[in-house]
Amino acid sequence: MKLVLATSNKGKVREIKAMCKDFEVIPYSELIEEFEIVEDADTFKDNALLKAHAVFNALDDKEVIVIADDSGISVEVLDGAPGIYSARYGGEDADDKDNLNALMKNIKAVGAESSPAFYTAAIAIVTKDVERTVHGWMYGTALTEAQGEGGFGYDPMFIPLGYDKTLGELDDETKRKLSHRSKALSLARKVLKTL
Ligand code: IMP
Repeated sequence: MKLVLATSNKGKVREIKAMCKDFEVIPYSELIEEFEIVEDADTFKDNALLKAHAVFNALDDKEVIVIADDSGISVEVLDGAPGIYSARYGGEDADDKDNLNALMKNIKAVGAESSPAFYTAAIAIVTKDVERTVHGWMYGTALTEAQGEGGFGYDPMFIPLGYDKTLGELDDETKRKLSHRSKALSLARKVLKTL
């Protein structure tokens, strides 16, 4: 089965390809020119749907299955921030490092050294006939010091529940077993089987 991915985020593409080896996973940017998708919905679910529909509508081939991932991290001492704003937390043009530094700085700014936190992933599946969404979560602790270079995004500051190392230090295989994205993808597989 061929899946068109409505993202060009390299970290997400790498993880989704590794978790969906039995599918042909094609980032949409390999089919058409990349374009800006304004993610202005209020929930991970609606932003994932927005991205999946935007890419589906832009493709000529209407027999494809498009999947989109909208995800982010929520930190308890920051009342759930950055949440759906995770990709822009360090400012409009922020990259992953800017976002990571902004989040560690803001946790420190409220006088905390760490905080309970969780990742959310919403995955939308869009075809010409159906739209479906599934979710996955990963709980743990957000730190104010980055540790390790693995993963992407906020991974160097996140220790999953039951571990004593950050996702930046743990190997990819361990993250694959635990992550919000892999949990959402295992539900997405069940949906894909029904199509
Ligand atoms: P999106 O493209 O709007 O879904 O942006 C998601 C944001 O959350 C990006 O800044 C990512 O770096 C971050 N993010 C999502 N999933 C992960 C993850 O698994 N690890 C680290 N950061 C993540």
